Amino acid sequence: MNEILAATVVERESACLPSAAEMLPAIDRAINSLRRGGTVLREGEPWPCRECGIGEYRLLFSDETRSLALPKRSTTGQMPNVAALYGRENTTLTVKSYACAACGSLKTFWWPDEKRPDAWRPPRKKPEA
Ligand SMILES: [Zn+2]
Repeated sequence: MNEILAATVVERESACLPSAAEMLPAIDRAINSLRRGGTVLREGEPWPCRECGIGEYRLLFSDETRSLALPKRSTTGQMPNVAALYGRENTTLTVKSYACAACGSLKTFWWPDEKRPDAWRPPRKKPEA
């Protein structure tokens, strides 16, 4: 919903979408997200835990991405050293992990090449002092 408002409620006409046709994909996306019970994910902000309903998911390991190695099952008997395993492009994912301190639920998101996935919102701008 905020995505739609940001594209339509603007100070300058030039910042607005040129026609309703350009807004349709954003509306479809918002409707699908609402139907599926999606959560707005924003960098730097916790979100409520659906497992316990008590805690919030918060980023683990400060604000850095981590590497997760997923070697092929067929190669587990011939494991290379750790540096070689994490240096291979076809076995390593760049991820951010979040945990709920109340129930221990973990969520891990793939951030290819450390880029924010499309469904994530950028961090809010901090008010200037
Ligand atoms: Zn929880």
